[in-house]
Amino acid sequence: MQMGNQKRCRLCRSSALRTFYNISDVYLGDHFAASPSESLNSPCADVSVFVCERCFHVQQPDVVKPDLVWKKYTYRSGMALGMKAHLQDLKQSISKFMQGVVPSAVLDIGSNDGTFLSLFDAQRSRVLGVDPAPQIGMQANERGIPTISGLWGKAQASAVINLIGKPDLITAFNVFGHMEDLEDFIAGVSMCLGPEGVFVFECQYLLDVIDKTLAPTFFHEHVSHHHLLALDNFFSRFGLELADAFHADIQNGAVVGFVRWRASLPKTSRLTRLIEIERVFQETLLEEGLFERNVARTIEKIERSLEAHARAIGKTRSDLVIVGFGASRSASVIMRLIPILGKAYCIFDENQRINGFFYPGSRLRITDDLKVLDSADIIINLAWSHAEPIVERLIEQFGGERKLILNPFPYIDNFCEV
Ligand SMILES: [Zn+2]
Repeated sequence: MQMGNQKRCRLCRSSALRTFYNISDVYLGDHFAASPSESLNSPCADVSVFVCERCFHVQQPDVVKPDLVWKKYTYRSGMALGMKAHLQDLKQSISKFMQGVVPSAVLDIGSNDGTFLSLFDAQRSRVLGVDPAPQIGMQANERGIPTISGLWGKAQASAVINLIGKPDLITAFNVFGHMEDLEDFIAGVSMCLGPEGVFVFECQYLLDVIDKTLAPTFFHEHVSHHHLLALDNFFSRFGLELADAFHADIQNGAVVGFVRWRASLPKTSRLTRLIEIERVFQETLLEEGLFERNVARTIEKIERSLEAHARAIGKTRSDLVIVGFGASRSASVIMRLIPILGKAYCIFDENQRINGFFYPGSRLRITDDLKVLDSADIIINLAWSHAEPIVERLIEQFGGERKLILNPFPYIDNFCEV
């Protein structure tokens, strides 16, 4: 099931890796099945997370075969809640960083359905996307966004230069955490980035993962969990350095970093402040079992909420009608951590492509019938990376005395303060 067993830190090559967190038998959340028996036989993998004692990079050395992840990949950035508006904001931040200079060539790595590249004026900027999911890349091409298929690395750098020249803007949003070979990834960036170019990445921020106990972020697709100090040291090996970064309030907390050729600009004060916070935070990363204890505390809290709600509506725990909301790819981690979800009635999801299928590793059918949300005693949000907007929407539409709306990680419910 698993391949490769990288013994060294993905960023600094140190072999001093210490266990950070483990979860066993997590199903691959994109393998929706036509029947419960097929679903229970779908692929699963252990998730083992380590922290490097030298550079403090948090990582999962075991990698699931890319074919298993990307061939069935269903996420489309244009579809995700609030994502287009967020990409527009990012474009504005980039334009500010580039002091209004319009890039003549833009490469977006992990370009998905081309939503970000479609924001550029084709008359002024040559654009090119690279994406590992072949079907989604094909759709982007049909929409007129030139996209090449494959995992990004050195091998693709010369193709990029042939097609659009050396890009003065390279972006990688929400892909940086997925890459097994980050050395090859950044080597590829450094081979084609123009002399005045900027590389901009956005990824989930490790400080938020730990602060908010975001356990479902540790699943087979996320192999690296980033913070800026470790990354800046890593970039310096390629002649690059972080020039600016800011914290973004999306998907439970992300960080956006701006990278240029070394010594081209001093670091901004907001980046320096983030790095100072990280220096203090790094010490806690080596504290054994810390994250596991926080996960256990959250699970206890969820159990207490379920009990209290059953009492409040005069039902026994086993009579509760539970409905999952959002068949997200990492919901399989939540289902693994909260066993009562296995006895849920179904999972509600509006995505027509998976309607009628069964969630991997479960007997839970996926439906877009709004009535199931109406009749549920408890709605548990499984699309946790969009926790706040989803929970707000669920409370507005379905909330009330008799219905518990609960987001497990980070813990939010409609009756208690977070
Ligand atoms: Zn390291």
